[in-house]
Amino acid sequence: MKYITVKIPAIGLLAILCSALVSSVGSAQLKLHPNKFRQADQFRQLEEILPTPTETRAGSGAPGARYWQQTVDYDIDVKIDDNNQQLFGSETITYRNNSPDSLSYLWLQLDANIHRADSDANMISTTDDISSLGFGSLKAILAKEVFDGGFKITRCQESLTKKPLKHTIVKTMMRVDLPSKLEPGQSFAFEIDWNYQINDSSVIGGRSGCEFFEEDGNYIYEVAQWFPRLCAYTDATGWQHKQFLGRGEFTLEMGDYVVRITAPDDHVVASTGTLLNSEQVLTEVQRERLEESKTADKPVFIITPEEAKKNESNKPAGTKTWIFKADKVRDFAWASSRKFIWDAMQHNMGDYPVMAMSYYPNEGEPLWSKYSTHAIIHTLEVYSRYTFDYPYPVAISVNGPVGGMEYPMICFNGPRPEKDGTYSAGTKYGLISVVIHEVGHNYFPMIVNSDERQWTWMDEGLNTFLQYLSEQEWEDNYPSRSGEPRDIVRYMRSRNQVPIMTNSESILQFGPNAYSKPATALNILRETILGRELFDYAFKEYAMRWKFKRPMPADFFRTMEDASGVDLDWFWRGWFFSNDHVDMSISNVRQLNVNTKDPDVENVIKREEKDAEPESNSQRLNKDIEKRTHRYPELKDFYNSYDELDVSPEDKKSYERFFEGLSDEEKEMIAAKRNFYLISFENIGGLVMPIIFDAEFEDGTKQHVRIPAEIWKQDNAKVTKLLMTEKEIKSIVLDPSLETADVDLENNYFPRRIEKSRFEMYSGSRFSSGGSNPMRAAEKPKKPGKGKKAKEKKEADDGEAENDGGGDE
Ligand SMILES: [Zn+2]
Repeated sequence: MKYITVKIPAIGLLAILCSALVSSVGSAQLKLHPNKFRQADQFRQLEEILPTPTETRAGSGAPGARYWQQTVDYDIDVKIDDNNQQLFGSETITYRNNSPDSLSYLWLQLDANIHRADSDANMISTTDDISSLGFGSLKAILAKEVFDGGFKITRCQESLTKKPLKHTIVKTMMRVDLPSKLEPGQSFAFEIDWNYQINDSSVIGGRSGCEFFEEDGNYIYEVAQWFPRLCAYTDATGWQHKQFLGRGEFTLEMGDYVVRITAPDDHVVASTGTLLNSEQVLTEVQRERLEESKTADKPVFIITPEEAKKNESNKPAGTKTWIFKADKVRDFAWASSRKFIWDAMQHNMGDYPVMAMSYYPNEGEPLWSKYSTHAIIHTLEVYSRYTFDYPYPVAISVNGPVGGMEYPMICFNGPRPEKDGTYSAGTKYGLISVVIHEVGHNYFPMIVNSDERQWTWMDEGLNTFLQYLSEQEWEDNYPSRSGEPRDIVRYMRSRNQVPIMTNSESILQFGPNAYSKPATALNILRETILGRELFDYAFKEYAMRWKFKRPMPADFFRTMEDASGVDLDWFWRGWFFSNDHVDMSISNVRQLNVNTKDPDVENVIKREEKDAEPESNSQRLNKDIEKRTHRYPELKDFYNSYDELDVSPEDKKSYERFFEGLSDEEKEMIAAKRNFYLISFENIGGLVMPIIFDAEFEDGTKQHVRIPAEIWKQDNAKVTKLLMTEKEIKSIVLDPSLETADVDLENNYFPRRIEKSRFEMYSGSRFSSGGSNPMRAAEKPKKPGKGKKAKEKKEADDGEAENDGGGDE
């Protein structure tokens, strides 16, 4: 799922594609943490919170010696009715029980039931302020009242006996009662027929749906969560059948698929898996071009923009059935339309080929042919380096109604240029970023198969982290939204937060919490805590250990420590289990020097100190009063001219006696010109971090100091560090490269400095969230500007994000 926003370099503006996710970042209000247990709390080990290791999940964070998971294979026939936007399916599911448990029933997910008028998702959605609803949102609310997009189950029977199976639908879940207990090691095959009405994405959005193009009368279908799918049965939770409410995504079993997709015969189908019958469904020219794309050094059109444009006025003569096979996948999705342009370029992953392909209508041009397939291959290159070689034969990006959503080998991505072909920087980087993000999801959670319905961060956080690394390898200073510590500061100091370790449906500020914060935390862990070498080794170890398996949070935390050799419990506790933020302050700097006891030296210093003392107000005002000793000078005596800081011969003798009594080493220590600085730091935010500072000396040189976070081990609130130097310190700057996400920089300076900023004389928003489009101004519009439909579409998108907390895309 997407949470893509990009910063546009030229104007430093946040271009927000999914605005509702970001707008919930609250006002910047600092909160002190009066935590009376702080003294011993931040470094307390996590053993008491994390689950006890078992034979299936080892204490090292690796799969245990008796690790198991179920396998579920699907054989599916599906037909799309392009006249009525309906889908008809028939599947045979083969369930193999690899667990040590006997099962009386199986649970399946009926995700389309979220589109029933009486779904929990509709019933529990809340509206605080109806006056802020746009037309799109209101249209969606009205449509959801009546639309019935739920599954119609027309058959459910055992394959062997063809006897009906008792099944009970519980909202978005369905329990199928087994005729007899399914013992460990046994398999059970059964068949289900179903159909449902496909949602029109312009009204009711979501992770799938169809889009109608008024101008040519055609549809793009992006089809996902479209068949009854087995729930996961795991060693950690038993059946994972928490209801589908919209935000918490999916958790599924790995298995093999054969899917026969029947569509109008002029449609092009893009799908998870390998196409088995290209000779029946592709033209000779298309097959030749596919051959050519295997050795090309840039994307090759399989269907050109001109051909796709021509296809828009086609009328189908019948249907065609496309057969796809996919092995070792947790899910299966596809897209179908006669509008698709199709380009492809082969990427060699080690010694085997991966075909990177993009499918998009002419409405996506010229942006899509330029960036989509390149972004796919870029993702495979970078992600594979940090994890494992991409194991599938294809990687596909499709443009249609869905803003950004991932499935094995295929993903749906929304950004399109304006109708005149120009686009804003936000749209360009939005597209590259969303393709990287959604293709990146192949690694997390499609292959490292975490439980999305429970823990959003385990796939979105890790994926957003790798997205940042990939973006930074795309071009210099790529405007990444998440990754740099400074970009998470606004969220970290906001109110209304929950820890990252929160169930998907209960997360507040969804995007920052589950995407940006974990991504930033991992980046800090890599750059500032562990260093790239240790981090990359441990992160790759986690990916390798859990490839095609089902990790839980503890498996990640434990593996990162196990492989890096660094106790990170304080880091997980602070960043993943708490709402604390980083706010460190330099509270005090004291300079100390050794007293030489030499009156010639010390008395001069004392006199300087005395002279530096300020004149008091009374002293100043009393100056002009004529004193009695002025009138009667005879009242003055010895003490009126005595200076206690004058060095007497007696003082000198006494010092010489002292000096003679010292050893040579002691004499040297006294003679050395050494300054002792006691620098006091305070931890105001609560989240402990390394102390990193630059000390600038009077001669203009600098010293960079890095102290591990463990300095806070005994006192989490205040520490004092001794710095010895022959030079005089002029100033100190804490976290000079902004690597800790410190929310208040002003107390990072010693001495404090005057804070400078600018304020605007005019209030109100001056920029739209989509970003300005200087390209249009530069290129002169070929056609009139953004049409009415595009504007309505935008409103509908915004409305969707609002209603579902941004969870549906
Ligand atoms: Zn995502």
